[in-house]
Amino acid sequence: MKTAEIRSTFLDYFRSKGHTIVPSSSLVPASDPTLLFTNSGMVQFKNVFLGSEKLSYVRAADVQRCLRAGGKHNDLDAVGYTARHHTFFEMLGNWSFGDYFKRDAIAFAWELLTGVFKLPKDKLWVTVYHTDDEAFDLWNKDIGVPAERIVRIGDNKGAPFASDNFWQMADTGPCGPCTEIFYDHGEEIAGGPPGSPDEDGDRYIEIWNLVFMQFDRAPDGTLSPLPAPCVDTGMGLERLAAVLQHVHSNYEIDLFEHLIKVAAELTATKDLANKSLRVIADHIRACSFLIVDGVLPSNEGRGYVLRRIIRRALRHGWMLGVRGDFFWKMVQPLVEEMGEAYPELAQKQAFVEDALRTEERRFGETLENGMRLFDAVAAKSNDSIPGADAFRLYDTYGFPVDLTADIARERGLTVDMDGFEQSMREQQERSREGGKFEAKGQMPAELASQLQPTAFLGYDALMSQGSKV
Ligand code: ATP
Ligand code: MG
Ligand code: MG
Ligand code: MG
Repeated sequence: MKTAEIRSTFLDYFRSKGHTIVPSSSLVPASDPTLLFTNSGMVQFKNVFLGSEKLSYVRAADVQRCLRAGGKHNDLDAVGYTARHHTFFEMLGNWSFGDYFKRDAIAFAWELLTGVFKLPKDKLWVTVYHTDDEAFDLWNKDIGVPAERIVRIGDNKGAPFASDNFWQMADTGPCGPCTEIFYDHGEEIAGGPPGSPDEDGDRYIEIWNLVFMQFDRAPDGTLSPLPAPCVDTGMGLERLAAVLQHVHSNYEIDLFEHLIKVAAELTATKDLANKSLRVIADHIRACSFLIVDGVLPSNEGRGYVLRRIIRRALRHGWMLGVRGDFFWKMVQPLVEEMGEAYPELAQKQAFVEDALRTEERRFGETLENGMRLFDAVAAKSNDSIPGADAFRLYDTYGFPVDLTADIARERGLTVDMDGFEQSMREQQERSREGGKFEAKGQMPAELASQLQPTAFLGYDALMSQGSKV
């Protein structure tokens, strides 16, 4: 089943169950300064959950474009390393605003997956929040999933890809326990079932998360009940497509086939499974849709995330031997693939191409010299790239520090982030003393909170501090 048909089958199913079909909202949250990007389908409904906005319907479904490349949900570093993560992806979702709750949400999901999409029941595993006996019993007694394929999961203590059955969009806002559905891609693939020590592998892949939205988390961490319990679900379109198209990796589905082929042609690469082609195909989606949604490359906030993603893609092209521009040429095949589902992409094609070409030519001037510096530094580094060198790459050659860290990772090296931050602070001091320091513009609260003097200045914080090139 092609991706386009999966989208429509999903929407048709929920329409038949009384859901109103709503359009995808922008990747830039309309009225939520606490959030960098739309990272899930529920973002546009946040105020409905909180009770401050009323809709004329109580059931909705949609296909939402999402980005996880900054803030609480950041999968940028997983792209190219797992079979299941993208920066940009589409999330199929259905919602109940104070209408149905656990029983119906579970029954709908099961019927759609096994009755409509005909997934084999014995390949599906489910997880529930460790204290949620009600969800456990619904799966076990109502649906008939054997107890040995239902896993109780507690709170994630911070491991990036550990299963987590308490969902939250951000550090504050609507949240609640969830139940998730996994597909077993078979024993020839490494990885254990959810909750096991090697769950991070790609054998058991999470396809659908059903969240029972019950709480609003305050900045001090306390939970208060929402006005009415709601349901919020999200299923990765590309992950479901992989299952339905009998391939293991998201990057092997129909939607990516053409993109990867064009990337291979543009970079003269023979091996279509080359990791860099996957990264480029992933990043052209993220970058194009960010530009469609009004973000342009810049030195802070959302624009800096875009710049970081573009430069990562360009570096992968460079690694494949490209010495001119190529990335903007991926927009055309992307429009062919997704322009029908997203007419705004087709309408803005020329604009997106221009924006990418400009950034591409700009970085092209320093990429080669930066790579030369990196190679020289790496040759004399044992396990870690010194912070001062990472800073020079950033300051003189326009290498965002996460790009340097990514290149380092490929060679088994890390970056001395403390040293990098120290160099950054010293430079800020110097420019402040020189009277050249300019106050930063408005930035999302999510970033601002990480920029407090006492807070750890991680990748996300650094991305707002700008690069000179
Ligand atoms: P994972 O544990 O695999 O990182 P998640 O638990 O972070 O996924 P959710 O926040 O529950 O994901 O999002 C709902 C669904 O969206 C997931 O079940 C998955 O199908 C899909 N999804 C999440 N992150 C990505 C991603 N980076 N790329 C593609 N699909 C994703
Ligand atoms: Mg995740
Ligand atoms: Mg998960
Ligand atoms: Mg999940």
